[in-house]
Amino acid sequence: MTAQPSFRRILLKLSGEGLMGQQEYGLDERVVERLAKEIKVAHDAGLEICLVIGGGNIFRGVTGATRGMDRATADHMGMLATVINALAVQDALERVGIPCRVQSAIPMSAVCEPYIRRRAVRHMEKGRVVIFAAGTGNPFFTTDTAAALRAAEMNCDVLMKATQVDGVYSDDPKTNPDAVRYDRLTFTEVLVKGLNVMDASAIALARENNIPILVFSLHAERSLGRVLEGEKGICTIITRED
Ligand code: UDP
Repeated sequence: MTAQPSFRRILLKLSGEGLMGQQEYGLDERVVERLAKEIKVAHDAGLEICLVIGGGNIFRGVTGATRGMDRATADHMGMLATVINALAVQDALERVGIPCRVQSAIPMSAVCEPYIRRRAVRHMEKGRVVIFAAGTGNPFFTTDTAAALRAAEMNCDVLMKATQVDGVYSDDPKTNPDAVRYDRLTFTEVLVKGLNVMDASAIALARENNIPILVFSLHAERSLGRVLEGEKGICTIITRED
C-alpha cells in the first residue's frame, strides 16, 4: 500500500458500535481482528497511527441518564467502556505484530499509561500505534470530540472516521434510497445542513485546527488502505472552504 504523500500521521476514530459486528452488544473478535490486519497494512506502509475508540457497544452515558442515572456518573461508565475496547484492540494489534500503547484520559496505572501528549508523540515516532482511551476524560463529551482533540494535539494530517456507511449522505441511506453521498463537503456545510457526521464540537475543533475529516466504511473490504491510497467514490472528505 502507498498512502497519499500528504498523510504522514493519521488518527483513526472507531465507534464502539462498529466493533460489535452483527451482535447486539459487546465485541466481535473477528471484526477486531480484521481491523487490526487493516491497520497493520497502513502501519507497514510507514504511517504513524493513533486511534480513538468509542464505547457505544457497551455503554452510553446518555442512555443511562434517560433511565434516571446521574449524567456525569453514566458518562464515567461510558468512558470506562472505551477502555475495555481499547484493550481489546491493543491485544489484536499486538497479535498481528504491531507494537501498541493504550493511554487513558482517566489514569489507571495498573492497566495502561496515562495520557501524556509528548509521550504519545514519541511512541508514534518509534513506530508504535497509540490508542487513546477514556475519551477526553470529561463527562458531557463524546469520543468524536476526543478524536478531534487528540488529532489536533498530535498534529495529525487527517482524522479518519470509520462508520457503518461509505461516507456522508444527505439522509440515512439505510432508510432513504434517494439519499445521496457527498464526495466533498466543507465543515460549514456539515454544520449548516445539520449532517449527521460527528457532533458539532468535534466539527468545530477540526475546522479551527484545519484537520480534514475522511468518513469511510468500516465494513468494505480493505477500506482503510483504499481510502489512504486516494481511491475515489468510497469516502467523503470534509475540509475548510479555503
Ligand atoms: N464519554 C464521555 N466523555 C468523553 C468521551 C466519551 O463522557 O470525552 C462517554 C459518554 O457517556 C459516551 C460514552 O463515553 O456515551 C461512549 O462514547 P461514545 O458514545 O462517543 O462512543 P461511540 O458512539 O463512538 O461508540
